[in-house]
Amino acid sequence: MESIWEKNIQLPTFEPLRRDIRTDVLVIGGGLAGLLCAHELTRAGLRCIVAEAGHICGGTTKNTTAKLTAQHGLVYHKLLKKFGLERTRAYLEANLAALDRIRELCQDIPCDFEEMSNYVYSLNNLKELEQELNALNKLGHPTALVKEIPLPLRTVGAIRFDCQAQFHPLKFAAAIAESLPIFEHTRVLEVKVGQAVTEHGTINANHIVVATHFPFLNKFGAYWLKMYQSRSYVLALENGPDLSGMYVDASGTGLSFRNYGNLLLLGGGGHRTGKPGDGWSGLEDFASHHYRHTRPVACWAAQDCMTLDSAPYIGLYSPRLPRLYVITGFNKWGMTSSMLAATLVSDLILDRDNPYLTAFSPSRSVFHPQLAVNAGESVLHLLTPARPRCPHMGCALKYNPQEHSWDCPCHGSRFADDGALLDGPATGGLVHDHSQHSR
Ligand SMILES: Cc1cc2nc3c(=O)[nH]c(=O)nc-3n(C[C@H](O)[C@H](O)[C@H](O)COP(=O)(O)OP(=O)(O)OC[C@H]3O[C@@H](n4cnc5c(N)ncnc54)[C@H](O)[C@@H]3O)c2cc1C
Repeated sequence: MESIWEKNIQLPTFEPLRRDIRTDVLVIGGGLAGLLCAHELTRAGLRCIVAEAGHICGGTTKNTTAKLTAQHGLVYHKLLKKFGLERTRAYLEANLAALDRIRELCQDIPCDFEEMSNYVYSLNNLKELEQELNALNKLGHPTALVKEIPLPLRTVGAIRFDCQAQFHPLKFAAAIAESLPIFEHTRVLEVKVGQAVTEHGTINANHIVVATHFPFLNKFGAYWLKMYQSRSYVLALENGPDLSGMYVDASGTGLSFRNYGNLLLLGGGGHRTGKPGDGWSGLEDFASHHYRHTRPVACWAAQDCMTLDSAPYIGLYSPRLPRLYVITGFNKWGMTSSMLAATLVSDLILDRDNPYLTAFSPSRSVFHPQLAVNAGESVLHLLTPARPRCPHMGCALKYNPQEHSWDCPCHGSRFADDGALLDGPATGGLVHDHSQHSR
């Protein structure tokens, strides 16, 4: 289940850490967020290293659909209600600035960057589109409500953002990584003040950034309560129509579309990790009904961290821990958000003012109905007397028949049939002989 991005690129490789070292900044995690953060800090003149548990971009980044947009579903009406005008404007401006910065970097990186309009469509709720349009007008970012889009779906219309983009995420990341000091196969096991412990060496750093997708330090920040993971599926179809745009369903659980060369990437089937889902079957049915002349050439799945209020957590890991930072919670919009996180965290470390910091602060209010849902799921699966159990916090794992994995419904850790760790926040594999456990 390799994504199309992995098929046509060789990422650079790096040696593991085998000694104790000292640096200005340690970035833990070599996905797009960690790499961009290290890139921006290095450019500012700091000594910065990246410690990556496996291969760079081997987590969610290799399985993204790589749309570059500040239009994250119908997020602006929601944020305006929750955050007010100033913070919502900060969200929009920070994402547009991040897109501009990626556009600038892509001028020197051959990564199939293409300017493209982005569309968020609704199947049956015109009111939600109108509310979003109003919100965007209030934010001074007028957009169009279009009635016709070239999808084989009956919609009530779509909101269009012009001058957005799409690219090849691994061609981009490979160029960013090339000049950085990176240690692969170097999992950080423990973080103390100014120090990270790995299996074969200790890294002393003035600042430490945790960019591990789901943060793995449980004692602070309560990320295990403030987030869950949502898994979704992608089919790459040969000979699909050229859609001349990027499209996503407003509901968050519908379909997403973009082209890459002569391929059509059809995404969807999203569900909380560890809960039952249809895998690729809904996408295959859709393709066989509506895109009869296409042929699937690749399929893959991935998951992302979902926050309580649809905005990522970027900033101090916890107000009690100076010089430890976190980048997480991209809500399936981590391409522009990785870039904006790199800028915010660099500015924090370099003590530069940034007007957008408050909007993304990880210590903002947690009062949201989703908090009760996350807490309920944790209690339910902690009390479920089934095996195997997740080494992260002890929840009962569920078998995922589509992907032959054991998935945690609490925080989204995943394990292969042989117990090997596939996705965090767990930091190690299963120790029990789970082959004896019932599926
Ligand atoms: C199906 C799907 C489609 C998507 N499409 C889009 C899209 O079109 N546009 C968009 O903007 N976003 C999209 N996203 C979201 C985006 O892909 C992600 O938000 C982004 O890739 C996350 O990057 P990351 O660097 O935070 O995480 P990752 O890429 O997962 O990187 C984290 C890294 O940390 C490493 N790590 C973990 N623990 C440790 C440790 N203890 N020590 C050292 N290293 C560690 C991991 O090995 C991993 O390499 C999509 C997401 C999904 C699931």
